[in-house]
Amino acid sequence: MKQVSARRTRRAATAPPHRAPATSWILRLQRTAGNRAVRRLLQRDIAVHKGSQLTAAQLADVLKKNKNVPDWLKKGVGSSGGSLTAGRVAAPKDRILSFVDSFVAAFKAGNWDITTAKSKIVVGKDGKWRQIVTPDLGKDERIGFYMKTGPGQREFSESTLHSEDPEIIYGWTEPDTVTNKRDEKRGLVVIITEIDVTAADGRHKVFTPGPDEMAEAIVHEIGVHAGRIAQGRPDVHSDTDSSVRDVVNEIGGFFRPANDKGELDTSPLTKQIFAFVAGGKP
Ligand SMILES: [Zn+2]
Repeated sequence: MKQVSARRTRRAATAPPHRAPATSWILRLQRTAGNRAVRRLLQRDIAVHKGSQLTAAQLADVLKKNKNVPDWLKKGVGSSGGSLTAGRVAAPKDRILSFVDSFVAAFKAGNWDITTAKSKIVVGKDGKWRQIVTPDLGKDERIGFYMKTGPGQREFSESTLHSEDPEIIYGWTEPDTVTNKRDEKRGLVVIITEIDVTAADGRHKVFTPGPDEMAEAIVHEIGVHAGRIAQGRPDVHSDTDSSVRDVVNEIGGFFRPANDKGELDTSPLTKQIFAFVAGGKP
């Protein structure tokens, strides 16, 4: 999860979402259809992609049933009609939690999708890692970009989410994605549900992220990446800029213990996979 945005190959400049002035049509709708219709139309959620292996309710439950997600956050999130929702997220007043605003901003932006994904790690004989993350999208649907191939002609080119770093990826966030089935640019958050690992000596094992790894991935990808992108703020993990690191640690601190220096431990599954790759008994 650490280098998600740093690895992005195509990172479009982010502008605040464009919105038409809404006042007049809201008033009109209020008069004709009532407040309930207005509320429904103004609700801005994160849409669960139809290819997702988990439903909106199941994704919401990853947070709601997790023992380490704080109650005030559980109360704020939910699902409705195929979307993840965030209502009033009432963080405790005695703590300054900077991820809350950005977390909610991703929902308000209204141009984000979330889906599940599978990751495949192959460690070569030379010890080099190659990891590919494949989002669960529609049938034969792929993310990528359109290339102009001539006047009025274009061709779709598939892009992959991949990493060559020795790291375990639990989630990935890409703004402004298009697919071969959809021209509209929408942000995409993916949550890994399966990690297929082949070690350098050929041993192979499929690992499944646990409740904490999944919950942290959801809050991290939305609160750090999608949310800060929606706000037009930097979201790239950087060694020099502590603002992103602070938000990452706020969220990580719910799930992982810190050492004497305040550094967060890696997750149990991360340790397990590194041990497997190194040749230890999984
Ligand atoms: Zn990240």
